[in-house]
Amino acid sequence: MVIDVDKRGHTLLVVEDSRSVAGLLADRIGLIDGVVVKVAGTLEEARQVVLANRHDLFLAVLDLNLPDAPDGEVVPWVMSQGVPVLVLTAGLDDNERDGLMDMGIVDYVNKTNPSEIEHVVRTVERIYRNRHISVLVVDDSNSARAYLTELLRRYGYRLLEARDGAAALAQLERHEDIRLILCDQNMPGMDGVTLIGRIRQRYSRSHLCIIGMSSYGSGMLSARLLKAGANDFIKRPFLEEEFFVRVNQNVELIELIRSMEESANRDPLTGLHNRRYLAEAGQMLFDTALREGKGLAVVLMDLDHFKSINDRFGHFGGDEVLRAVARHLGKVTRKSDILARYGGEEFCVVAQNLSVDEARLLAEKLRNEVKSMQLNIKDAALRLTMSVGLATAPGRGLEDMLHRADEALYEAKSAGRDQVRIASEPGG
Ligand code: GH3
Ligand code: MG
Ligand code: MG
Repeated sequence: MVIDVDKRGHTLLVVEDSRSVAGLLADRIGLIDGVVVKVAGTLEEARQVVLANRHDLFLAVLDLNLPDAPDGEVVPWVMSQGVPVLVLTAGLDDNERDGLMDMGIVDYVNKTNPSEIEHVVRTVERIYRNRHISVLVVDDSNSARAYLTELLRRYGYRLLEARDGAAALAQLERHEDIRLILCDQNMPGMDGVTLIGRIRQRYSRSHLCIIGMSSYGSGMLSARLLKAGANDFIKRPFLEEEFFVRVNQNVELIELIRSMEESANRDPLTGLHNRRYLAEAGQMLFDTALREGKGLAVVLMDLDHFKSINDRFGHFGGDEVLRAVARHLGKVTRKSDILARYGGEEFCVVAQNLSVDEARLLAEKLRNEVKSMQLNIKDAALRLTMSVGLATAPGRGLEDMLHRADEALYEAKSAGRDQVRIASEPGG
């Protein structure tokens, strides 16, 4: 039985008769955002929890030695209910290890070693997050693809398959959320090295990672795959434990790079994009707008007399107001617009695909949204207004538009605040 990945739930079952180990695991795993932990101490209790929560369980962590099931009987039973299993042991010999891996468990962990308890927590977190990560398996052999997808399914990944290079490139076009590609070397038509080279022309190492695979793995071949753009190489046959460690490490690296990129582009206070991102992404919107002859608007906004809010409510009160303003501005803008915190109490929207009249309307809407905010800071009702400068003519570029929007904003301030001013045509 296979769990439909899209329906994977949020509940984790710990079956462990040692109260201290069960408590430690439940506490640590319970800290993972979104995960609900259920604990059972015997096979009978485990049965009840599984039957009551079958559709919400995404993983079970099972002790091999239970009072009513001393020989690991809990493992095949829980697996028969379609729940992936991670096994807690007090040490395994090779035969026992082989038996468990053949059953298709996710992993086994020696619970007497504190650092392995941390490994359980990390593995649970990995599996919980993998529901959002798509992996593409590229191999011409049906049985090889089936084996790899079966392994990856245990770790909760979303799975896509391709039997050759052309199909792989087509899958990439269709699925923007692919973060890992497992790529066989020997395939008819296009080999792995060529395919990886083609993929790297379009998708950077910070977008997705690639693991090359081959059974004819001379040292030379792994070097060629890595040079073509693979991040890693797995030689067949492999130990499943090694396979999982490499796959998970590569996915973790991608997540780390992406979260670093994300934080470099975000303002930590409001969560909006920052000025750096606005300059980069705004330039792309500008180029597209010019090329396609579609309108672009730059709206620069500055809160009126914000200093007095800090004076009244303190800096933290002021921060709270800035966060609220950010949320409200987000309600007015479209997904395709860029909304950024431009400076202290200044915000900026770059919006595409609108006429001059629509741009004016947008600027007024933004101003009104802030004016009608119902703010309560320290039980005091608060009114806020905002001055706005708008530029719509492309002029000499995005910088130039920002500059003219800023001049218009300055005019709005001098004319009494709480209003929109539209920039004059460039050079006009
Ligand atoms: P004006 O109507 O002319 O724009 O008046 P103003 O008081 O809004 O303008 P001014 O530029 O004199 O002051 C901006 C204030 O915004 C001063 C500064 O302390 C505050 N500010 C800037 N960044 C932050 C922030 O991150 N948090 C808080 N709480 N305040 C900030
Ligand atoms: Mg201000
Ligand atoms: Mg200001």
